[in-house]
Amino acid sequence: MTATQAAASIGPMVKEFIAGAVRAKAEGKQKLAYTFIVCHHEEILRALDVLPVWTENFAGVCGAKRDSERFLQRAESLGLSRSLCTYALCGIGFDQWREEQGQMPPEAPWGGMPKPDFMVSTGQILCDPRAKWYQASQQYMPDVPIYNMDLPYPLFERDRDHREVWGYYQKYIAKELRA
Ligand code: SF4
Repeated sequence: MTATQAAASIGPMVKEFIAGAVRAKAEGKQKLAYTFIVCHHEEILRALDVLPVWTENFAGVCGAKRDSERFLQRAESLGLSRSLCTYALCGIGFDQWREEQGQMPPEAPWGGMPKPDFMVSTGQILCDPRAKWYQASQQYMPDVPIYNMDLPYPLFERDRDHREVWGYYQKYIAKELRA
């Protein structure tokens, strides 16, 4: 596959991620989990027959389709500042709208983002929203639990030698995944 072909496959792939989650929700056969990209637990979720719902991706699609403003405004009306991560604001505004109406907002991009069965937040220290976004969304779906799973991000700093602590981190991550 060429680089151009690989790039061209991204759109349909993301569309299927989103449409597949909407379809799975309608079928009710699989659990759905909100989660963040670059968390490296996708295979674990799928092995458990849980379908990941990529909340950042959905917000990105709303932006690309120039249809995020109504969700951002809704988040602002809930008291959240526009200076926060707009991916998070878009997702929180969308969640609140869907939960208030009991159905997807009208003409939701690519079918919308379904209510999850649980949310996997992360304390990766990449940004605050990765830990706080789902807590904010949980206000509008209090029956949906959050599991916070951090992946030690310094492992990816290639200019550091982490060999002395590899064993510790392996045990730590395995314990988090088991939980
Ligand atoms: S600030 Fe955090 S939650 Fe927001 S898009 Fe960036 S990585 Fe994702």
